[in-house]
Amino acid sequence: MKQVPVLIIGGGPVGLALAADLGWRGIECLLVEQGDGSIFHPRANTVNSRTMEFCRRWGIADRVRNSGTPPDFPLDIVYATGLQGYEIARINRPSYGGAKPIATTPERSQRCNQIFFDPIMRDLASSFPSVTLRYQCRLESFTETSEGVVATVRDVASDRVETIGAKYLVACCGGHSPVPRALGVQWEGTSVLSYNLNVFLRIPELWKHHGMGKTAFYFFVDREGRSPSLIEIDGNVLWRLGLNYGTERVDPKSVDIDALVKRFVGASVPYEVISVLPWTCRSIVADCWRKGPVFLAGDAVHQHSPSGGFGMNTGLGDAVDLSWKLAASLDGWGGEGLLASYQIERRPIARRIVREATESLAPLAPAAKLAHIEDATPEGDQARQEVRDTIMRERTQVFISDGLVLGYTYDGSPIVCSDGTPLRPQSVSKYEPTARPGSRAPHAWLAEGQSTIDLFGKSFVLLRFGDAPPDPELFVAAARARGVPLQVVDIPNPEIARLYERRLALIRPDGHVAWRNDEMPAAPLAVIDTVRGASEAPSG
Ligand SMILES: Cc1cc2nc3c(=O)[nH]c(=O)nc-3n(C[C@H](O)[C@H](O)[C@H](O)COP(=O)(O)OP(=O)(O)OC[C@H]3O[C@@H](n4cnc5c(N)ncnc54)[C@H](O)[C@@H]3O)c2cc1C
Repeated sequence: MKQVPVLIIGGGPVGLALAADLGWRGIECLLVEQGDGSIFHPRANTVNSRTMEFCRRWGIADRVRNSGTPPDFPLDIVYATGLQGYEIARINRPSYGGAKPIATTPERSQRCNQIFFDPIMRDLASSFPSVTLRYQCRLESFTETSEGVVATVRDVASDRVETIGAKYLVACCGGHSPVPRALGVQWEGTSVLSYNLNVFLRIPELWKHHGMGKTAFYFFVDREGRSPSLIEIDGNVLWRLGLNYGTERVDPKSVDIDALVKRFVGASVPYEVISVLPWTCRSIVADCWRKGPVFLAGDAVHQHSPSGGFGMNTGLGDAVDLSWKLAASLDGWGGEGLLASYQIERRPIARRIVREATESLAPLAPAAKLAHIEDATPEGDQARQEVRDTIMRERTQVFISDGLVLGYTYDGSPIVCSDGTPLRPQSVSKYEPTARPGSRAPHAWLAEGQSTIDLFGKSFVLLRFGDAPPDPELFVAAARARGVPLQVVDIPNPEIARLYERRLALIRPDGHVAWRNDEMPAAPLAVIDTVRGASEAPSG
């Protein structure tokens, strides 16, 4: 029987990111994917700043930047009754290219649809010698053993069945994953918010056929309250028309796509349908993300509306959190609590994201108001004004979400040493950099093109700030005694020292602050044991 340290099920973006991050750490893993790796229909577009920071770490940020929507493509959000109808509201957002650099991250969010992004992740994962990707290979079942897991997989092409032994199995097999069911996972939330159809369209030079201006997002407000949307995919000819059918299951064959395109896009706009994908919008989070040697990540544990573009990005956050913990456990320096901390840290993040994405789906106006939304009457003007006010008051934050994307924190994690400072109020839109333990360690430029973020990844990093920082020797000796990889980096720049607020900060391999203080800890071994998941967190 073949044996691997980590068996990953599913070659979507989350499974590929986990394989890539493990490969980047030199950890052997096997990924099995039931499909052949082709992607026919576009799903996620937004590769947010945090995911771009991971891409920067893996050396693929430029490729992602150059593969999706062109940098000068306008990214305003336009709400309208149709491209030939009334504009209702416009949320202005800078394009990726023309805007000034962002002070809080070295990587601006990008639009790079999964039809472009997943192949980049696949190339990255397969570039590591310790990673094997096997396509057309389906997980059929698995059992836990004293050594880990034994999985039964079927080669889809030959129909041959084989067993694979693994120390850890990570199910990244998406929304239809069989693994949560096999583990008896319970779901919190609403299993069906709505049934939807996505129509993948080719529309050459769409912007020449209407007066709303060229932009990536058009959200339509219609009498029926179904809120169709038209979203660009490649900044050129590819578009996705999203149609929401509420809680009625819809047969794609029964839908008159031509009538819908004529109504919302325009009667004389030339178009071609490439494909149609039915999908179900849910608002759910699994209660259990791990049972023994089996872990779940990505859509296999959280699913929500695509509003705000969080799904894939949250899944990549799961992969990055889990990867270094699996590597530490396999390398022998991770304590018992390290793998347990995966669910403790990631589940609250997913719950918050699911809540925000779901809240943004509330109806824009009562049905009686929407009944007039397309009318050229005073009631129509009034309805559009009220909907505009609601949009500007309630919908802006889901599209400008730096607080969620960069400000998430592993507050209360047992592998983070609290410094006693209170948690700041959590904002969706606004990110305020902080090095409070649990937070993503803030970005600052160390030199041209080199961010503090670039220091983190393969080991723990002890940052020492100022002219005469405390002697790190006892701390280094404690890490060495436990086999924990640790690098010490001195940063004399006073501005960066102010950002981190203490003379010392210990950063984890995933770039989150594990501990900070002005002085070396009295018991450095206790801090090292806490951050490697081998004991309860000491304070200070
Ligand atoms: C319309 C739409 C728009 C979206 N927009 C965004 C966005 O802008 N930003 C964002 O972040 N997210 C977005 N999302 C969500 C995003 O697409 C998903 O969150 C993301 O694809 C989840 O990745 P995953 O790897 O967890 O699962 P998936 O992408 O579903 O991949 C799972 C893989 O596992 C394989 N698999 C399943 N079972 C088995 C088995 N038994 N054996 C072997 N392989 C198996 C499947 O074939 C599949 O390839 C959107 C989703 C939709 C539907």
